[in-house]
Amino acid sequence: MNKIRMSVLTVATLILCLTGCQNSADEIRQAKQEGKLAVVTSFYPMYDFAVKIGGEKARVVNLVPAGTEPHDWEPAPADIAGLEQAEIFVYNGAGMEHWVEDVAQALENAELIQVEASSGITLLESDHSHSDVEKDMCDPHVWLDPMNAKAEMSNILDAFTAADPENADYYKKRYETYAAGLDELDREFTEGLSQVTDRNVIVAHEAFGYLCNAYSLNQIGIEGLSPDSEPDPARMEEIVRFAKENRVRTVFFEELVSPKVADTIAREIGAKTQVLNPLEGLSEEQLEAGEDYMSVMRNNLEVLQNALR
Ligand SMILES: [Zn+2]
Repeated sequence: MNKIRMSVLTVATLILCLTGCQNSADEIRQAKQEGKLAVVTSFYPMYDFAVKIGGEKARVVNLVPAGTEPHDWEPAPADIAGLEQAEIFVYNGAGMEHWVEDVAQALENAELIQVEASSGITLLESDHSHSDVEKDMCDPHVWLDPMNAKAEMSNILDAFTAADPENADYYKKRYETYAAGLDELDREFTEGLSQVTDRNVIVAHEAFGYLCNAYSLNQIGIEGLSPDSEPDPARMEEIVRFAKENRVRTVFFEELVSPKVADTIAREIGAKTQVLNPLEGLSEEQLEAGEDYMSVMRNNLEVLQNALR
C-alpha cells in the first residue's frame, strides 16, 4: 500500500517537474515566435523591473519560482537551456546569486546580453560583527532603496535598448514613467519616516541595510545577510538586551522565512511581530492580486510608520 502510494507520488512529482521544467525554455521559444524580446531574470525585483520596462514588447521569464526564498536557490539544467535561447539575462549581482558566475561561463558562447543590475551602485559592507562567515561580504540587497532600484532599472533599460534598438523609445518612455514613480516613493519614505520616534528596526535577516541607510534607521539583524543560518544564542541574547534597553515594540519577520526566532524574541521582550517584506520573492497569491515592487514598498512604509511612531 505504502509502496503504491509512494510510486503514485513519485510519478505525480515527475509530471509536475517535467511540465515545470519545460516551461521556461518553452516560454522563451514562444517569445521568439511572437516576435517579442526574450528576457530571463534571476529573482523577483529583477523580474518586476524588466516587466515594467519591457511592457508588451518583451516576454520576461523569472527563474526563482513564486514563494521561494532566493538566497539558497540554484538553477536546474532546464533553466540553463532556457537561458541559452534568451536575448537578455538580468541578475542583481553583488553576491546575491552565488551561482551566476558558473552560469555566465556556461553561456559564454550564447548570443545573450548579461546585465548585472547593481553595477555602478556603491555597495555597503555587511554589519558582520556577529558572523565570521560573512566577513568581507558586500550587502547585495541594493533594491530596497528606491533610488538604487532606479539605478538598476537604468542598467536594465540599456540592455533592452541594445538588444532591440527598434523599440528604444518605447522602453525609454516606460522607464521614465516608472523612474518618476520611484522618485515619488523616495519622497514618501523621507517624509513618512522623518517624524518617527523610534529608529531601531529588528529584522529577520539583514536585508534592509540600504533602506535603513537611506532613511536614517538603524537595522538590527537577527540573522546575517542570508537567512539560512540559525542565529546563535549569544546573538539572540544580545538582541533581547538591546531591545529591552531601547524599548523596541516591534520585531519584523518575513513571509519566506520561518517566524520562529522573531516570535521567540518578541515574546521575551513583550513586543509584537509584523511582516516587513524584503521583496526577495512574492507569493502566487500576491502576484495574482497584482502586487509589485511599488505596492509592497508602500505597504512596508506604512508598516514602519505605524511600528516606529
Ligand atoms: Zn536577503
